Amino acid sequence: MKLNLNIEPLSNWAPVSNGKPLIISGPCSAETEEQLLATARLLKATGKVNVLRAGIWKPRTRPGEFEGIGAIGLEWLNKAKAETGFPIAVEVANAKHVEEALKAKVDILWIGARSTVNPFTVQEIADALKGVDIPVMVKNPINPDLSLWIGALERINGAGITKLAAIHRGFSSFEKSAFRNEPMWDLAISLKTLIPELPILNDPSHICGSRELIPFISQKALDLDMQGLMIEAHIDPSVAWTDAKQQVTPAALSDMIDGFILRTADSKNPDFADKLAGLREKIDQLDDSIFQKLGERMKIVEQIGEYKRDNDVTILQVSRWDEILQKRAAFGKALNLEKEFTEKILELIHSESIRKQTAIMNTAKADLG
Ligand code: PEP
Ligand code: MN
Repeated sequence: MKLNLNIEPLSNWAPVSNGKPLIISGPCSAETEEQLLATARLLKATGKVNVLRAGIWKPRTRPGEFEGIGAIGLEWLNKAKAETGFPIAVEVANAKHVEEALKAKVDILWIGARSTVNPFTVQEIADALKGVDIPVMVKNPINPDLSLWIGALERINGAGITKLAAIHRGFSSFEKSAFRNEPMWDLAISLKTLIPELPILNDPSHICGSRELIPFISQKALDLDMQGLMIEAHIDPSVAWTDAKQQVTPAALSDMIDGFILRTADSKNPDFADKLAGLREKIDQLDDSIFQKLGERMKIVEQIGEYKRDNDVTILQVSRWDEILQKRAAFGKALNLEKEFTEKILELIHSESIRKQTAIMNTAKADLG
């Protein structure tokens, strides 16, 4: 299923150069005029950055933390723009922010993760943008809810904004991991599948939460064909007022970008397309046989369900399930499949089997004669 949004290509509104990813960088927060200008100058000197970002209204989890420098930051951003030529981008979280950002001629707006979660907030921003032609980037909501992300994009698009992009910044998760926000790549891939024309950028800084991981997440985003990266950079991250652990110096950013491998959807190798088509055909055939086998398996599951129903036996028999898990996990391992992968697939198959058998349990017994 495809969704119908009216969206312009990224190259219509962002300074992207020949197939390279759009690089948006700048501090998490504008702190002082010097900090912002010095950071912007060094980012410009790398020659690898396309847009300058800075948060000036900061949505903070707890009150009492630095909540952004406010509208004065817009003046600093404009000074940085005059000096470096960078288009400037800020986060807006309500109609007043939009109004002030528009007055200050900000080039690109973004909606933060804490705003995308709230349809009232997004609608307020959308209403303030009616009749305005400005690029807007919508970060994913804090929680892993694809509809909420799509809903925000639809609200902004509904206000007439066609210069639209999504930013994948990861999702808050109860389970603690190496990441500050779990990437949950599947959600970004689903978004791309539903709205193929929508440019998706990645924000590795907020996914990683620590600068060491940023190159890996960036490369993965590029390999998934995301069209750009938003990476927080600070003249001296060790003293940053917000997100100190995840900011990088402009020099480190420059080195990181040099290390990226840019892969393309097509290759110059003349045999590439034929070889790829051949391999894909094999995959298609294997997928077909996997589904055929799954269908056959479910038929037997149904027969077992009927047999259990007719003999008043419960659906779930834990010992049998344990046996399946153990045998298949060992087989999977021998086939070089990751344990987690084997378990996930088995669990999916098992829960579908239980669902089918539950439906059968609720039907009348066959006449056992
Ligand atoms: C930010 O970009 O500084 C920010 C607050 O990000 P997010 O909305 O993704 O948390
Ligand atoms: Mn930040």
